[in-house]
Amino acid sequence: MPNSHSALSKKCVIGSSLLDNFGVFASEKIEKDEVIAIWGGKIYAEKDMVNLAKKYPKMLLNPFGVYWGYYMGPIRPQDPIEDSERFNHSCSPNAGIKGQIILVARRDIAVGEEICFDYETAETSGIGLMFVCKCNSITCRKNIDGTAWKNPEFIAKNKEYLSWYLEQKLKFSAE
Ligand SMILES: [Zn+2]
Repeated sequence: MPNSHSALSKKCVIGSSLLDNFGVFASEKIEKDEVIAIWGGKIYAEKDMVNLAKKYPKMLLNPFGVYWGYYMGPIRPQDPIEDSERFNHSCSPNAGIKGQIILVARRDIAVGEEICFDYETAETSGIGLMFVCKCNSITCRKNIDGTAWKNPEFIAKNKEYLSWYLEQKLKFSAE
């Protein structure tokens, strides 16, 4: 995709998913720690994003918190969702965030496996982020609402894969 604002590994394909309509799947084996996607876009202040969403509701489909009151979204609000933004959520994910914009494999991922990350390792304010999870894992939290970061068990399980913003949020809430 020459005009895309994000990069997606060539080992990924879009397919239909039981978690949502679409998901991202491995078309080749992906090794632990391999980079799967690098997200890009434009930074929006929360109030601008909410305003734009009145005309372009899909702006709130993938709100990606990068700092207090700031989100990363598409370059233009009318832009279609890119393949790199079709990763579904799982409470027991095979991929995770490094830094703010990098998605890596948390373990080896086999051909045909759906690639998921835990949305709450990146997004914490809850803007648009409320749904009932269907991942069916033993540790499924069911209600995904952006508050998991307050749970020490969640933090322990995901500590290598929390976005920098969430790490800051934890640091400040502990002070
Ligand atoms: Zn779940």
